[in-house]
Amino acid sequence: MPISKLFAKDVYSLFIDRGSVSPISQQRWEESFNIEISDEKWNTIYSLAFKCTIESKLQAFQYKMLHRIVSHNYLLEKYKLSLTNECASCKEIETIEHKCFECTEIKQFWREFSNWWYLVFGVKLFLNKDSVIFGVLNSDNLVLNYCILQAKYYINYVKNTQLDRLLISVQAFLKFLKRRLNILEYLYLSKDKHESFVDRWGDLWKLFN
Ligand SMILES: [Zn+2]
Repeated sequence: MPISKLFAKDVYSLFIDRGSVSPISQQRWEESFNIEISDEKWNTIYSLAFKCTIESKLQAFQYKMLHRIVSHNYLLEKYKLSLTNECASCKEIETIEHKCFECTEIKQFWREFSNWWYLVFGVKLFLNKDSVIFGVLNSDNLVLNYCILQAKYYINYVKNTQLDRLLISVQAFLKFLKRRLNILEYLYLSKDKHESFVDRWGDLWKLFN
C-alpha cells in the first residue's frame, strides 16, 4: 500500500515498531551529518511529527523523509524514473539533503524563513541540515516544528510538481501555510476540539487572520 494512503495510526504503529525502523537509513543519516545518534534520540526524532501535527499526510511525509524514500532525482535516475540526477535549480546532484537544505536556492529559503520567524516571534533560529530534516529537537516549540515540517513538505511539493521554481519563497510558503492552517482548524472543529486548536495554533493563526 502506498504510504500516502496509510492512516495516521498505521504510520504511527510503523514508527513505534522497532522492527520496521531501517538501520540502513539511520546509518546513512549519521554518515551524512557526521554524528552518532542514540536510540533515545532516534525515538524523539521518529515521534516528533506525531507530536506536532494531527495531519496524516504530513506524518507520512516525515516517515518517508526519515527512511530516505522521499523522491529526489539521484534516486529516481538510479531506478530509471528520471533522465537526470541533477537539481533543476543549480544542476548539482539532487540528493535528499540537497533538495531540502543544501541547494543555494533552498538555503536562501531557510534564511528567509528564519527572518520571518524572528520578525513575528522575536526568536532567532539557527537552522542547519539536521534541524531542518529531523526537526529542532532541543525545542519544545511544536508550532516551530510544525512550520518546519510544512515548509519541507511545501518545498517537496513545488519541486515534485515542477511548478515554476521561483515559487519557492517564504512569501509563497506563507500563503500555503495559511491554507494548511485553515484545513487544520477544520480538522479540530470536526472533532469538536476547537479550543485545543486555539490553544496550540492561536498565535500562528492570528498572523493570517
Ligand atoms: Zn540545487
